Amino acid sequence: MKYKKSKYYIENIDALKIAKKYGTPIYCYSKNKIIRNIIKFKNNFESIKPLICFSVKSNNNLQILKLIQQYQLGADVVSKGELIAALKAGIPSKKIVFSGVGKTADEIRYAIDKNILLINAESESEIININYIAKNKRRPVNVGLRLNPNIDALTNSKISTGRNIDKFGLNEKTIFKLINKYKNSKHIKIKCLSVHIGSQITELKPYAEMIRCVSKFIEKIKYHFDYIDFGGGMGIQYKNNDKKLDYKKYLFLVKKFVNKYRVKIIFEPGRSIIGNTAVLLSKIIYIKKTNKRNFVIIDAAMNDLIRPALYGSYHKIVPLKKNQQIVNKLHNFVGPICETTDQFSVLKRYFKLNDKDFLAICDVGAYGIVLSSNYNLRPRPSELMIDKSKVKLISRRETLKDII
Ligand code: PLP
Repeated sequence: MKYKKSKYYIENIDALKIAKKYGTPIYCYSKNKIIRNIIKFKNNFESIKPLICFSVKSNNNLQILKLIQQYQLGADVVSKGELIAALKAGIPSKKIVFSGVGKTADEIRYAIDKNILLINAESESEIININYIAKNKRRPVNVGLRLNPNIDALTNSKISTGRNIDKFGLNEKTIFKLINKYKNSKHIKIKCLSVHIGSQITELKPYAEMIRCVSKFIEKIKYHFDYIDFGGGMGIQYKNNDKKLDYKKYLFLVKKFVNKYRVKIIFEPGRSIIGNTAVLLSKIIYIKKTNKRNFVIIDAAMNDLIRPALYGSYHKIVPLKKNQQIVNKLHNFVGPICETTDQFSVLKRYFKLNDKDFLAICDVGAYGIVLSSNYNLRPRPSELMIDKSKVKLISRRETLKDII
């Protein structure tokens, strides 16, 4: 996605033409950017041959999952719905891991029936439940235990998951207890230790601490796990000057770990695969000018993309046709929803805009459409996949009839 002269292009297509033809708000993905991200991620860790399970929670569009499957990735799911979607996309069950703190009996039964690779459990009660179900089915079940290492991922506190104040994972003491209790069980086969400390991580330090903590734990527990699942969390650059995670250094640490403990590594990336592959196109409805600021009221809102309202996240906003003139005044980019938090960004200056101009909100591939809602009874937008000069509708816009 880039400008050619003053026009914003998604692959080979002028984004303005897409916006006018398909209507706004609309999510547009670059197919070749997704493919490049997958290949890049695989290449980064090529030397340790990990199982890469795409985190379906970041984006569950079936066409995207099919692309994930074509490039031999597995899936990390957190609900029965996501498991069904991953299987429907053709992802082999033996490449699927199921995470989450509150799997219901129905979800556990379904996962066992589908013979997935691992159920990563997060509480003693969950293990008791899995054991009970497995016993009834007279089936052994491969499980992972998610460790809460009490590490701060040095990211937005709202997407940090590895501290002991967070609801995720088990402490070391409980894992010790569970391993002792189930090491000879007929039904619970503890195969994996998993850990996921948060999302949008750009510093090496939390990962280094996580690996140190897991290593120490393995030494203490003297139990062989076939798999160590280091989760996802790799950050992307939302701002041009955002720090980039040093994959080479991360690989170095993981490689040392693998050589020592002889385990298969699992990663669960979401954002790093899909985050920077999509834009949300939107049309300006009105520009409300006040003394101090211009409120740029656009037809996309927090129901289409909630990350700024929910986490205070930043997404770059670019005009589809750039006017070289700059207006030195505050610009509040807001949606039409009746909430003050329905605001995407506040910028000190911006390119001169007119009513009915079009904009792209960038880097919305991860945690974008999946977090959309019908708030204010607004239909959810459609999604397009752009492949060079081809456009494919990969989910249609809801209509008012669908939702009322
Ligand atoms: N694995 C688990 C268990 C998660 O909770 C998440 C998201 O928070 C992910 C993987 C994916 O994280 P990310 O999109 O940051 O790579």
